[in-house]
Amino acid sequence: MILPKSNRLEPAEVAQLSAIVGEFGCRIQPIVGDVRTIYAIVGDERHELMINRLEGLPFVDRVDTIQSPHKLMDIRSDLARHRVRVGGVTLGDELLIMAGHCTIDPKNPNLFYETAHAVKEAGAHAIRGGVWKPRTNPYAFQGDNKSLEILMEGSRRTGLPVDTEVMDEEQLKLALAAGVHVLQIGARNALNYSLLRQVGAAVAGKPVAVLLKRSIHSGPLNEFISAAEYIVNFGNPNVILCPRGTSPTLDGYRNQPDESITPLLKERTWAPVVVDPSHSVGKAAYVPACALAAVAYGADGLCIEAHVEPARGLGDDPKQAVTPAVLAGLIRDAKALHAVRRSRTTPVPSA
Ligand code: PEP
Ligand code: MN
Repeated sequence: MILPKSNRLEPAEVAQLSAIVGEFGCRIQPIVGDVRTIYAIVGDERHELMINRLEGLPFVDRVDTIQSPHKLMDIRSDLARHRVRVGGVTLGDELLIMAGHCTIDPKNPNLFYETAHAVKEAGAHAIRGGVWKPRTNPYAFQGDNKSLEILMEGSRRTGLPVDTEVMDEEQLKLALAAGVHVLQIGARNALNYSLLRQVGAAVAGKPVAVLLKRSIHSGPLNEFISAAEYIVNFGNPNVILCPRGTSPTLDGYRNQPDESITPLLKERTWAPVVVDPSHSVGKAAYVPACALAAVAYGADGLCIEAHVEPARGLGDDPKQAVTPAVLAGLIRDAKALHAVRRSRTTPVPSA
C-alpha cells in the first residue's frame, strides 16, 4: 500500500509507480477516498528493492506491506502445524525448562556434572552450558574446546539433551560432530546473516534445534522473525525464539526485560518462544519474577542460568546463576502458572 504525500497523485506520478511495480510483476490499484487516494500494490509485494525504489520517490510518504516478509515463519505458513521437540517436551504442550552454567569451567568439570544432576533433579528437561563465550572484554575467559567434552559427558550422565552457543563455522562443526542437541545463536550474533545461513545449512536434515536469541539491540519484531527465517529456509524448522532482554538497559537491570513481546511474536509466527530471564535482568535475585512474567505472557519455555555454587562459576554465573533450590521452586511455580494459563486459553470441549 503506497501512501503518497499529497491527497492525490498526478497521472504522471501514478505512471511512475506502475512502471516500477510492473518490473516486479505487480500492478497499481488506486483506492479512491473522499479526501485522499491511496495506491494498493496488487501482486507479491515482498520485493525489498521495489519498496526501496517506491520509497525513494519524492511524492511517496511511505509504503506499508500487508504480506509478511517471512514466508516460512509466518503464522499462516504451512509450517504452522510443525511442533518443535526438545528433551521429550513438545513445545506448546509442556513448559520446557533448560538450565545450567553460563560458562563451563574446563578446569573444574565436576562442578558442571553436579549442576547437570541438580538441574535435572529440580525438573529441567535440558542442560545449558557455554563452551565458547562471546565476551565484551577481550581479556576475559573466552571458553575452551575442552568444555565441549564436559558438556557431552554431562549429557551422558544425566540422559538430558544439551544446549551451547556457537559463534562461527568451526564451532558449529565441532558442536554438531559432538552431538549437541540445541545450538544457541547468541544476542551478539543474532543478526549475523552469514552465520545464520551456515547454521541453517548445517542443521538441515538433522534432529537438532536452534535457540535463536533476540538481538541485543531493541529491533523490530519482524527483524527477529526474519533472522529465524534464514535458518528455517534451509529446511530444518526446529527453531526457537528466545527473548533475552535488549539494550538500552532498564536502569538496575542488565538489559531491558522483553518477555512481554511473547504474545506479539505469537500473533505473527508459529515458532515456540523460550524466554531467557537470566540475561534479561542479570541478577539471580530478579530471575524468578522475570521467569514467571514470561510464563504469564505465554512463553513455551525458559532458559535459565543455574549453578550448584554460583560464587565458583565463570562468566555470568557468579551474579546471574540461581541455585538448584531456587530453580526447583521457580520450576514448580512456573509449571503451575503454565497450567493455569493453558486452562484459560484452551477452549473447554463441549459435553
Ligand atoms: C549466554 O547464554 O550465556 C549468552 C552469552 O547469551 P546472550 O547471547 O543472550 O548474551
Ligand atoms: Mn551467560
